[in-house]
Amino acid sequence: MKATTDSHSAEATLEQADALCRKRGARFTPMRREVFELMLAEPGPRSAYDLMATLETRLNRRLAPPTVYRALDFLMAQGFIHRLESTHAYLPCMHIGHAHHGVYLVCERCGQTVELDDHTIATRLEQGAEAHGFKVSRPVVELHGHCGECRDPA
Ligand SMILES: [Zn+2]
Ligand SMILES: [Zn+2]
Repeated sequence: MKATTDSHSAEATLEQADALCRKRGARFTPMRREVFELMLAEPGPRSAYDLMATLETRLNRRLAPPTVYRALDFLMAQGFIHRLESTHAYLPCMHIGHAHHGVYLVCERCGQTVELDDHTIATRLEQGAEAHGFKVSRPVVELHGHCGECRDPA
């Protein structure tokens, strides 16, 4: 499986997240950082359960599910990660630092998931929702289909 687009290294993204938290007065606790780091190391879609299991192995101790969910909620609130609504899988955002809707291409065969970096789509969606007085709580758009490697030859 091909890795999803990464314009920044995991290291640089972590540093950026750190700086953003400081600027916003948000606490980037060791647990929150650990979860984000884990997701950046393998930027495909992961379930909360899978993340927790990996984290437990890494930290060599048992974790309470709320600990992990709280960390994920924080990362989502900061716009560092997104959650796919169809599978409830979490993904690190590939362009953190600006509020936006996650727009994803999801391959139904191999699971490869790519985040589109297209601000016109996100902006149009926000404007459309606003025009209806609609408040978006989970700004994720998923396009399901087959990736370049899985699609049938034309
Ligand atoms: Zn994003
Ligand atoms: Zn595929």
